[in-house]
Amino acid sequence: MAGGGWLARWPVIRQLRGQDGRGAAARSARTDALRPRVEEADSVARSVCPYCAVGCGQLVYVKDGAVTQIEGDPDSPISRGRLCPKGSASKQLVTHAGRQTTVLYRRPYGTEWEPLDLGTAMDMIADRVARTRRDTWQQEYEGKVVRRTLGIAGLGGATLDNEENYLMKKLYTALGAVQVENQARI
Ligand code: SF4
Repeated sequence: MAGGGWLARWPVIRQLRGQDGRGAAARSARTDALRPRVEEADSVARSVCPYCAVGCGQLVYVKDGAVTQIEGDPDSPISRGRLCPKGSASKQLVTHAGRQTTVLYRRPYGTEWEPLDLGTAMDMIADRVARTRRDTWQQEYEGKVVRRTLGIAGLGGATLDNEENYLMKKLYTALGAVQVENQARI
């Protein structure tokens, strides 16, 4: 077997010859040419993953004013550089081509989604909230004044930020809803 032939360069052969399988034996011209995907970023911002209550630290890489990559923050005492699959994919929250950016409506007993303009959708939601609140209002319960509705509940999504959650809690409490929860706490 020729020492400098292609077979000799095969990692298995190099490992059998005693080279460290995690080091030089596992390298190739192609792996040596690979560059970190964050190398060309011109700034990096620290953030916190919004998806759940763990609150893993994130590094948000930016180039030309656009987010190019989000990775775990090694300095985070919570996550020490790690992100779960959801956190690792959080860049797609704003960049994924499959994001739904317009209103879709599926009417009762409907089998298909229909496009709807935002103004119409907001009016429909407001009508339903007002009607449900009126129809389910409880002034008293078991002799106590409660002034509430159990007909409306709020369930926030994990990507809501602090300020959005604050406003949602204010809104639901003002409406008399007492069932207010967030996915991040479940
Ligand atoms: S969703 Fe994953 S990455 Fe994000 S905070 Fe929770 S555990 Fe961490």
